[in-house]
Amino acid sequence: MDHEVYRYDDRTVIIRQGLHTNFEAPFLYLLLGSERALLLDTGTGHVLLRPLIDSLLDGRQLVVAHTHAHGDHIGGDGEFDEVVGLTPAEVAAYFGLNDWPEGVAQFDLGDRVLDILPIPGHHASHIAVYDGETRLLFTGDSLYPGRLYVQDWNAFRASVSRLAAFVAAGNPVEWMLGAHIELTDRPGEDYPMGATVHPDEHELRLAPAVLAELHAVLGPEPARIVRDHFIVYPV
Ligand SMILES: [Zn+2]
Ligand SMILES: [Zn+2]
Repeated sequence: MDHEVYRYDDRTVIIRQGLHTNFEAPFLYLLLGSERALLLDTGTGHVLLRPLIDSLLDGRQLVVAHTHAHGDHIGGDGEFDEVVGLTPAEVAAYFGLNDWPEGVAQFDLGDRVLDILPIPGHHASHIAVYDGETRLLFTGDSLYPGRLYVQDWNAFRASVSRLAAFVAAGNPVEWMLGAHIELTDRPGEDYPMGATVHPDEHELRLAPAVLAELHAVLGPEPARIVRDHFIVYPV
């Protein structure tokens, strides 16, 4: 199997591109509403994705968007018809985020309204997606059990602060789901870069306390910070 497919519930599908297909082994998310479906990321492009997605849509119209525009998350875009653009301006325009990177936009899939928040720092066009129905927060490459590569420190710090404030303002999170796993199940221990086997992986999900922890440990100056469930990694 080139993808692992896990149904979190009947309208939330977690898809992982197999580690044997590419060392990045990214996670993709398919969120189904009554009218539309949102596919968040398309993987590295080393394997066909559309047949799997089509088999899960049940007649819904598909929109493809991205947590951010790095190559390991947009590689399958060419297989799809309606794909949101990759620049911050295009992402902002599509979702109606008129004050990027401030603000929150709503995106309605039909009986399922998602909140979209700009969180640049790892990448300029990065967004987080919050689903109030499941209380899942999709954090892409900005927060996952692995190396959080920070390209723009000040932007990243501000984004984590806004995201923490959004959660505190009455948007409770059950779990955060990111786009990779690069840690073992031992505290703060990562696999070598490019590893194609991951014995004893950390679990995908992160508890909301980990967002508060990230917020608390980010200081004004770029620094590598090793914690149990993530490694901040300035680049
Ligand atoms: Zn990335
Ligand atoms: Zn990535």
